[in-house]
Amino acid sequence: MSHPGDSAQPAAAAHTAAAPLRPETVVVETARPPRTDDAPVNPPIMVSSTYVGTGAVADGARAYGRYSNPTWDPFEEALARLEGCELPGLLYGSGLAAIASALELTAPGGTVIMPEHTYQGALLGAQETAEKGRFDLVTVDIADTEAVLAAVARAAEEKAGLRHTARPGEHAVVLWVESPTNPMLEVADLPALASGAHAHGALVIADNTFATPLLQRPLEVGADVVVHSVTKYLAGHSDVVLGAAVAKDSGVRDALLHDRSIRGGIAGPFEAWLALRGLRTLALRVERACESAQVVAERLADHPAVRAIRYPGLSADIGHERAKAQMSGFGAIISIDLGSAEAAEAAVEACRLWTPATSLGGVESLIERRRRHTAEPLTVPEGLIRLSVGIEHVEDLWADLDRALGVAGA
Ligand SMILES: *Cc1c(COP(=O)(O)O)cnc(C)c1O
Repeated sequence: MSHPGDSAQPAAAAHTAAAPLRPETVVVETARPPRTDDAPVNPPIMVSSTYVGTGAVADGARAYGRYSNPTWDPFEEALARLEGCELPGLLYGSGLAAIASALELTAPGGTVIMPEHTYQGALLGAQETAEKGRFDLVTVDIADTEAVLAAVARAAEEKAGLRHTARPGEHAVVLWVESPTNPMLEVADLPALASGAHAHGALVIADNTFATPLLQRPLEVGADVVVHSVTKYLAGHSDVVLGAAVAKDSGVRDALLHDRSIRGGIAGPFEAWLALRGLRTLALRVERACESAQVVAERLADHPAVRAIRYPGLSADIGHERAKAQMSGFGAIISIDLGSAEAAEAAVEACRLWTPATSLGGVESLIERRRRHTAEPLTVPEGLIRLSVGIEHVEDLWADLDRALGVAGA
């Protein structure tokens, strides 16, 4: 895993106060209590639903446990630093709570443009909200930059009148970007989409769950807001459900904070504490998982049971060049198509080391036939299996998978 600017920086520079620390160091160093005698090395958990006070209570005040919790702060600070954002992030009770809050940045009657293969829960939520008349929803092939920007231009023209009635932080047109997409692994051209959408006054929101800020920083290439399912890589141990949003602009962040405070999609203090604990090892976990995913993907590409494969790290993948340009690693999710639901089910059931389960981004490798979810878009093939490569030894992972695919192919 390499980062832009890595090689240009001599190691000694990290010890001078002004030199920016590398992300591998930031995840360990950031958000610690001040170094005073007898101070704890880790931020403590605060379990209180209310705070003593008599002063004015506004958004951002401690006051009450739905408005704030000191246990959220270190994680919110750490995530913002990793995403290259000046303003602290916002932790939510789940990825979908963060996504629902971010969708509220659409002005009433506005248009949301989303990838047809957006994470299914996000897509379903947006579809249901659109059916209730809150906004119009347009789905696009997010890898087709020209088509996406044409949809943005159309929506901007249609909804031009809303620009003047939108409340602070709201936008008439929202472009939702997920890259790589879950589970189709399509790669969006983040810089081109962001600058093209901004030319039409649209707000650009990126779901950065698959890449993590260690591999991709959407805000730095033009996105306005980043959302995460913290449940996945950031927490990393399949033991919490959490989400987060990070916004560049203070008006947008204020709108998100207000929404979180009044709708109540907040994180519990124990989960927030676990997420920060998990984040400390993010760099190590992501590095190992990416290395192993590359090996597994290359072998799968040559496997007779595999009809099709998507992994941005494969040089033959149609998203490879784009991913190389905007990511510093290709992630650890691989999708393969075995041609039929039966073959995919047989392979998943034959695994002994890979755990058949939904979700991704944990230390343990998971395998799932995605169409077992009835809400999965029908354009996702019946035989598609999503693999989340964990941190086990790659040869153990391969031996198990190779044997399982043999069973399925027989
Ligand atoms: C899992 C996931 C979500 C939803 O997050 P939850 O924490 O499950 O609510 C959103 N986006 C992507 C890309 C995901 O993988």
